[in-house]
Amino acid sequence: MDLTTEQVLAWIQRIAELMRQNRDYLTQLDAAIGDADHGANMDRGFQVAVQKLGNEPPNDIGAIFRTVGMALLSSVGGAAGPLYGTFFLELGKQLAGRTTVSAQEWATALRTAVATVAARGQAQVGDKTMIDALAPAVEELERALAEGVSLAAAMQRAAAAAAEGMRATIPLQARRGRASYLGERSVGHQDPGATSSALLLTAAAEILATE
Ligand code: ADP
Ligand code: MG
Repeated sequence: MDLTTEQVLAWIQRIAELMRQNRDYLTQLDAAIGDADHGANMDRGFQVAVQKLGNEPPNDIGAIFRTVGMALLSSVGGAAGPLYGTFFLELGKQLAGRTTVSAQEWATALRTAVATVAARGQAQVGDKTMIDALAPAVEELERALAEGVSLAAAMQRAAAAAAEGMRATIPLQARRGRASYLGERSVGHQDPGATSSALLLTAAAEILATE
């Protein structure tokens, strides 16, 4: 099964809904180890993205992702805005001009986008950032596809891996971003960015599951 422009648009729409619904939750997480703006940042960014896509969205997948990336870059400050902006711009670059994308191409594009974010933020798994959710999700997606399961089932497994990575940030000490200033006091709290990243994967799994 290939990924279509309609599914990509539905994904962005679903992310925006989940960010709105989880706005207070993300803000509470950021209040504990940051500056309590992550919920507002993500909600605003994806509302702007949906608005920019508008009634006549671009008809190729790359252009849709580029629009989302630009929207996040222009409307979300702080650490997460530029990092998520980079994530979607890189997906846009990888998938430029495409109206359908195979499962394998999708996994490769995601892997590249996550690697680009990790390089930009100089973050690795274990640093207590969004990478702790994104990297295991890509690995699980590729593992599932290699086992021959459908893209929908593979995204389900990827979303579960992201959620596990998110929960695994709780005992970690932050080594990147604002939370790292807290040193040992960042231990015992779930990372807000890993949480919003897990929501991105959940949204993707939900969209593919409705087929
Ligand atoms: P800010 O920290 O500037 O207030 P947000 O609150 O919107 O920005 O986002 C914070 C999240 O950004 C963190 O929870 C973390 O997951 C992510 N983050 C911060 N710095 C980095 C980095 N260098 N690499 C990857 N992710 C990062
Ligand atoms: Mg913050």
